[in-house]
Amino acid sequence: MSTADGETGEIVFEGKVASPGLVTGVLAVQTQDRSPDRVSRPAGDERAALAAALAEATVQLQELAGRADAMASEILEFQIALLEDDALIEPALEKIDEGASAAEGWTAVLDAQIVDYETADSAYFRARSADLRDLKERVLRLLTGGDERRSGVPADSILVADDLTPSGFLEIDWTRVRGAAFLAGSPSSHVAMLARSRGVPLLVNLGVEIGPECDGEPAILDAVEGRLVARPGPSATAEYQARFAERAARTAEEAGYLGRPARTADGRPVSVMINVDDPALLEGADPGHCDGIGLARTEFLFLGEGALPDEETQVAVYGRLLDWAAGRPVTIRTLDAGGDKPVPGLTLIGETNPFLGFRGVRLSLARPDVFKVQLRALARAAARGPARIMLPMVTVPSEYAEARAILNQAVEELRSEGRPHALPALGMMVEVPAAALAIDRFDADFLSIGSNDLVQYVTATSRDDGRLVRLHDPLHPGVLELIERVVAHGRSRGIEVSLCGDMAADPAYLPGLLDTGLDRVSVSVAALARTKAAIARYGGGPGR
Ligand code: PEP
Ligand code: MG
Repeated sequence: MSTADGETGEIVFEGKVASPGLVTGVLAVQTQDRSPDRVSRPAGDERAALAAALAEATVQLQELAGRADAMASEILEFQIALLEDDALIEPALEKIDEGASAAEGWTAVLDAQIVDYETADSAYFRARSADLRDLKERVLRLLTGGDERRSGVPADSILVADDLTPSGFLEIDWTRVRGAAFLAGSPSSHVAMLARSRGVPLLVNLGVEIGPECDGEPAILDAVEGRLVARPGPSATAEYQARFAERAARTAEEAGYLGRPARTADGRPVSVMINVDDPALLEGADPGHCDGIGLARTEFLFLGEGALPDEETQVAVYGRLLDWAAGRPVTIRTLDAGGDKPVPGLTLIGETNPFLGFRGVRLSLARPDVFKVQLRALARAAARGPARIMLPMVTVPSEYAEARAILNQAVEELRSEGRPHALPALGMMVEVPAAALAIDRFDADFLSIGSNDLVQYVTATSRDDGRLVRLHDPLHPGVLELIERVVAHGRSRGIEVSLCGDMAADPAYLPGLLDTGLDRVSVSVAALARTKAAIARYGGGPGR
């Protein structure tokens, strides 16, 4: 929704808060329409346009390959080879000669190829279909003027975009860009989570067009009340100045809790760990402010390079996390690819319902070649400090048992190779309702509740669909009952239970969580002070 003030020129757009903050800046409008039929180009130029897009795509891929590790550059070389393959280019040119635009011709030929790859008998070709899809999108972006490489977002701006993929989000240098507003999107999506972990204010689901006429205009991004105010008039400016001052005072007050162990007003200690999706975010963070790393998401560490890095690279990355934590526990989650986190060459394309599909530990168990490399790297890193391994999306006890067997094999291999290693604790996320309901059947070393996915599965509302926010309720009694059940199970068996979903970082949800008896949470670095302050304000819970 939007309202305009004819006198001052002020326009107010309303959206949903995905990551809190209050900033001013200049709007950088990068909304786009990439549908092939909106591109108008003289008919004779379509062949030339396709040739130019293929040439530019080759240059981009060569640039990426130059920076990538061996595995990723192999994927990129495969894509570069396809760009020179007459079996793809000739049929696209034929379509253009028959009257199609370059984008339509390219789409038709690539779509047919993708289907061929997806339905191939060979697992190798099926896996490669993701590379084809990636290539199709890259060329299409170039043809339709929507090159999404967003490194060009101006400094001190507020980005306005339709929505972003997690990798698109990570391409932006958020230390220079002040915040963002998306026309679509959802507060529970992975992009929203990335924004929260970086403290980037984000509004989503504005639901209205914001045209290029707003580009370069001054604006206030109010990701507290859910408003984007373009060309703010004098009264909006005065109101926001007062609120900036108020927020600054509150932030300073909350920072006072950072260096102290968290404790509720009635004296109950609560462990507060951190979630890490990019080790770079630990630069400047003080390990003394947390009780360890409760969740390191390995998919985001390597997103954008196209594949998991090799064992040595992984050992180095995990080792850096352990060094940073300086003796505190570091919980590293095995790859949780799939759903809205595709990894080219690994995840499946074209699943009807990817969030209910081949993701997390399901995919890892189907690819022991990739999984074993990660487990070996984790066991090697564990020689350097208290690393713990966590499995995502576990549904039945046999998945946990299979993963344990592969971990044992990995450790046995390392032993016979004479490499330094240790056997880390093996825990699991509780984010599938069936696992939460049957939690007493699992024999995991520790449990961590993934409320982001648990909420989406319990309420049957996709975490990336902004239209369903009303139903996507972390405080739904059904969700809280499952959390309470898992916490009670842990308490009765002496098994550690934490919660690493984003609901722990929201002061509106935290009291409900502490009411369940939960005494261990993991939140982003950006939310540490706020969470510790909210714990200190809590005083009425049962503390069972
Ligand atoms: C969760 O589901 O709550 C979680 C922590 O994992 P992710 O958000 O990465 O799916
Ligand atoms: Mg999850």
